[in-house]
Amino acid sequence: MTAVSEETPNGKKSGIQDHGAWIQGLITDFVDRSPENTLQNAAHDKAFDSPLVGFSNGGDPLYEAYKTAVGPFHWTPSEIFRLAFPGSDAKPEDLTVIAWILPQTKATKSDNRKERLYPSERWARARIFGEQVNVKLRELVVSELLERGFEAVAPMLFPQWKRKDSDRYVFASTWSERHAAYASGLGTFGLCDGLITPKGKAVRVGSVVARINIPPTSRPYEDHHAYCLFYTKGTCGQCIDRCPVGAVTEAGHEKKKCLAHIRPGTVGYVKSHFGFDGYGCGLCQTAVPCESKIPTIEDVT
Ligand code: SF4
Ligand code: SF4
Repeated sequence: MTAVSEETPNGKKSGIQDHGAWIQGLITDFVDRSPENTLQNAAHDKAFDSPLVGFSNGGDPLYEAYKTAVGPFHWTPSEIFRLAFPGSDAKPEDLTVIAWILPQTKATKSDNRKERLYPSERWARARIFGEQVNVKLRELVVSELLERGFEAVAPMLFPQWKRKDSDRYVFASTWSERHAAYASGLGTFGLCDGLITPKGKAVRVGSVVARINIPPTSRPYEDHHAYCLFYTKGTCGQCIDRCPVGAVTEAGHEKKKCLAHIRPGTVGYVKSHFGFDGYGCGLCQTAVPCESKIPTIEDVT
C-alpha cells in the first residue's frame, strides 16, 4: 500500500506514515483480539473471523451511479460527510470510504448449514450481538480517526440514516454498506442479493466515511454480479432451494417475502428456543457454493 502524507486536513501531523495500513490494522486488531468480538454465549465464541478491509474514493463515480440506481435519497460520501460536518470545505475526492467485511465463523456457518426453516442459535446471535460488535467497530474507527485529526462519520450510525421505499429495490436506505463494500473492491452481488466476497457471502459489512487520503483498493470486477455463478455461467441457483419461503427465484430476491420471514417470522422461534429477543435467517448464505469463497464452476459440477 502506498505511503501518504502524515498531514491531517487541519494541518497537524497524524504521526502515521501509511493511513491505509493503519486503518487495516485497527480493524483487524479489534476483530482478532478484542473481547468485545463475542456472540455473548456461554462458550464465549467470537462473533466474527478476521476481516477484509477495502477503500474507495469519495469522488468515485459509482457513488453518483448508486443515487440513480437505488434512489435520489442514497447519500454520496460527500453528502453524508457534509451532513456530519456542515462547515467542511472537503471536496468529494478528499474523502475515503472505509469498508470492511466481517466473516461469520466456521462454527456459526456449520450450525446454520443444518437448518431448513429457522436460524441456528449462533447465527441469530451473530445477527443481534454480532451487529453490536459491528456498531462498536464503527464507533472505534470514527473515534480513532477523530483523535488523529481526521473528520469521520459512520453513515449507519448517523441519526438521519433511514430505510426508504425504492421503486427499483422495494426497500433501500440512505446508505448501503454492501454498495460501499462493492465500490471498495470487496465483492459483488449474488442472486439472493448477498455480497459475495473472497471470504464468501456469510458475512456482515461495515463502513465509515472520512476525510483522509488513502489509495482506493482495486476492483477486480466490472460487473456487479461478477462472482455469482447464476449470472456468469447460468448455473448454480442453490440459494433458491435454500430459501424456506421462496423469496429467491431466478428473477432474484423478493425482499418483502424475505423480510416477512425474518421479522416477525423468526422472532418467536428465537425467543422460545434461544431465550433472547432476536431474529435472523441467512439460510441462503450457508450451504451454498458462495458461502465461504468466490465460487467456481467446479463447485457445482
Ligand atoms: S448460491 Fe449460487 S446462485 Fe446463489 S448467489 Fe451463490 S453463486 Fe449465486
Ligand atoms: S435470508 Fe432467509 S428468507 Fe431471506 S432470502 Fe435468504 S433464505 Fe430466504
